[in-house]
Amino acid sequence: MDYKHKSIKELKEMLDKNEVTSEELFKEANTLAHSTEEGNYFVTIIDKYRKRAKEDTLINGIPYALKDNFSTSGILTTASSNILKDYVPVYDATVYKRLKDAGAVLVGKTTLDELAMGGTGTTAHTGIVFNPHDKKRLIGGSSAGSAAAVAAGIIPFAIGSDTGDSIRKPASFGGVVGFKPTYGRISRYGLFAFASSLDHVGLFSRNVEDTAIVTDIIKGNDPKDMTSLKDDNLCYLEHIHDSIKGRKLFYIKEIVDEEIYQDEDIKKTIRTFKELMEKLKKEGFLIEEASIDEKLLKAIYPVYMTISCAEATSNNANLTGIQFGSRKDGKDINEVMFNARTLGFSELIKRRFVLGSYILQKENQEKLFLNSLRVRRLIVDKINELFKEFDGMILPASGSVAPLITDDVKSEKLDPKATVLENHMAIANFGGFPSITLPMYYHNGLPVGVNLTGRVREDSLVLNMAQKIEDVIGIKNKVAGDDDV
Ligand code: GLN
Repeated sequence: MDYKHKSIKELKEMLDKNEVTSEELFKEANTLAHSTEEGNYFVTIIDKYRKRAKEDTLINGIPYALKDNFSTSGILTTASSNILKDYVPVYDATVYKRLKDAGAVLVGKTTLDELAMGGTGTTAHTGIVFNPHDKKRLIGGSSAGSAAAVAAGIIPFAIGSDTGDSIRKPASFGGVVGFKPTYGRISRYGLFAFASSLDHVGLFSRNVEDTAIVTDIIKGNDPKDMTSLKDDNLCYLEHIHDSIKGRKLFYIKEIVDEEIYQDEDIKKTIRTFKELMEKLKKEGFLIEEASIDEKLLKAIYPVYMTISCAEATSNNANLTGIQFGSRKDGKDINEVMFNARTLGFSELIKRRFVLGSYILQKENQEKLFLNSLRVRRLIVDKINELFKEFDGMILPASGSVAPLITDDVKSEKLDPKATVLENHMAIANFGGFPSITLPMYYHNGLPVGVNLTGRVREDSLVLNMAQKIEDVIGIKNKVAGDDDV
């Protein structure tokens, strides 16, 4: 049947024609999940088939996976942290409930960087998530297992969360599509909060059309999420092939200036990106360079770290071993909390909570936290000003292919050489903009993605433009191990 390469649409057609049953699809996925266990894609693999659908939908009977920071009643949910290693929630996240109601079949809960912090997929309590394209390389994070499982062909789609780029960066390293819609478009109810003003729910698939199919199911207003948007009552799938003639895109000149990089691989990515821009122009897009003050661009990463560490410290204050988390012994309440948190969190998390606590101290709040909020606003205002003229911003999703797994990568040293090219995708979290990564090219058999970001609420247009870009690039439905790349 060649299950691995099939799109959601193709699988659904097979189900409708009774060429395969949903239980057989589940077994394919389950077998593949078990046979790739050394990749550490899953925290939990579900072995019992359970199909539940009230009405027929485009994903009824389709296997999928959920990042392990979404609440699933009765199913272990660890956020890949030691402190939650035995936690079984008592309620369902809205996104899980909607998928369940639509008949999608959960195959497993995927590994993430602990508590969704980090970008490498190397900090889970169960160990490193390996890139299915090359086991010596990371897949990126934090939605590491979701990206890897879709890239490996285990499931046609998986749910992730994205606070700074956690869907869109691993999508680049995995050669898959990764999408986070507008802030509030998909309910965050039941997603473990990392940095609430930046957290988005989104997904991975192997083509843009499948992304539209799933987004149509999981989007929509949810009274349980106070930041949830009103329904846009659009079917994104219906608009995916609309004409893009005359649509205007910009890229930021300072980020894709070949001259400023020494690394040959980055230069190659930039050349490929510029060639793609020429092809897109021939297909009807209008594309121009835009310039943004380098001070603003260089501020993206520190502003992201300041806001996200502060919000994360506050959001995770409940992980004390008292309300939540594995309890450790101690002579008084302080010692219980101290021991639970000391033993429960890894280095990276502790470092970020120390930063967050420092940033939130009364005497530092104005200078660090509030100033970061102001700079965030300046960045978003600048992008919105450009969005008055342009329909989207397009840039490479990463400078190069997935990095090798080294000690430096694992320890997440704040890299003074980290380029804006590696960090610009947080702009979409600052402004709540819909943003999608899709495969751009393969370099020595390893993928690199391109990222497209649009105006808030214009999720449909972003998917429509992404569909055209995918058609022009011509890469879709690839899985790791394909030899034609
Ligand atoms: N890599 C970013 C970080 O380290 C993004 C994480 C995310 O989007 N969840 O926090």
